[in-house]
Amino acid sequence: MKIGCVKEIKAQEFRVGMTPAAAREAVAQGHAVLIETGAGLGAGFADADYVAAGAAIAADAATVWAEAEMVVKVKEPQAAERAQLRPGQVLFTYLHLAPDPEQTADLLKSGATCIAYETVTDRMGGLPLLAPMSEVAGRLAPQVGSWALQKANGGRGVLMGGVPGVRPANVVIIGGGVVGTAAARVATGMGAHVTVLDRSIPRLSYLDDVFMGRLTTQYSDRAATEELIRDADMVIGAVLVPGAAAPKLVSRAMLATMKPGAVLVDVAIDQGGCFETSHATTHQDPIYEVDGIIHYCVANMPGAVARTSTQALGNATLPFLLALANKGWRQACGDDPHLLAGLNVHAGRITCAPVGAAQGLTA
Ligand code: NAD
Repeated sequence: MKIGCVKEIKAQEFRVGMTPAAAREAVAQGHAVLIETGAGLGAGFADADYVAAGAAIAADAATVWAEAEMVVKVKEPQAAERAQLRPGQVLFTYLHLAPDPEQTADLLKSGATCIAYETVTDRMGGLPLLAPMSEVAGRLAPQVGSWALQKANGGRGVLMGGVPGVRPANVVIIGGGVVGTAAARVATGMGAHVTVLDRSIPRLSYLDDVFMGRLTTQYSDRAATEELIRDADMVIGAVLVPGAAAPKLVSRAMLATMKPGAVLVDVAIDQGGCFETSHATTHQDPIYEVDGIIHYCVANMPGAVARTSTQALGNATLPFLLALANKGWRQACGDDPHLLAGLNVHAGRITCAPVGAAQGLTA
């Protein structure tokens, strides 16, 4: 199979869909790999690294879109990219279609077969291609939130760990999955006082065991959320309802009850955000203020640490990428129900039930 990889064109996205190591593996298994020139530069991979791995370099993205049978990317295709998709072509990337009817319409029109990283599953009921980026975003969330908490950035001027004799920051994490756990690890490490809210009791038990008293867990309902955010210096939104838009758990009216200069970090913004006042921002202009509350809502947080993220994502996608290339998408998805769960759009139809439900379309 001819596998293509283009340079990401979304603002401030420096990751790349294939590492030279992935290219080398695909070439060793008999495939041709075509990389757009400069595609890996943001993650520290030169064209020469891909050539050494046996890949060919294309002068522009149009060549890759025209020649590749499967295009491997990181972020959802932008409008200009969607226009180059064709019937029969396979697209393997993050899509996050549920809150994005415009993209969904274009993918349906393209006739392509679109497999979304974020809905591929594993035997444990996890999301193995979301997990590595969730680890990264979760670890970054307290880091960027603590920057936003600084006075010069509009925040309350509270230090995460406090100092002897002064209380640390109060951090509330809504959603104790992969993002929430990673965020809790860093926030507790910085010395903050951390509370994690979740709807899953087994998840709360797990966190209670693993953190051994270094954080508080609480069942996530309206009353608990209202009470906890009143006292919070930082609230990290880390919920996920797989394939669906994020539930809005903090309303605009609730902001008035919070401390001025408190910070909301909405990691779930890529699924529409879990705070009513969230809208997606970029690394160039990451924060804004609503009713005295600072919001950080960057939809591609892992792009800030592109090299770590590219390597972590590449490790997770490679086995699926090779299965798709070796067997073709139909056989690969037929053999593996977990990869089949990633199939979101095929030949003008939505093939993932939660995505269809989110948009009022039949899957
Ligand atoms: P996950 O499935 O591991 O965890 C989600 C958790 O949310 C689960 O434990 C679930 O029980 C909990 N949950 C669901 N509804 C809840 C509610 N009403 N109240 C409290 N908890 C609730 O998912 P994850 O990998 O941690 O991802 C979390 C979010 O972060 C997703 O929306 C994901 O797309 C997003 N994400 C964003 C970025 C970014 O750059 N912004 C990067 C990675 C992941």
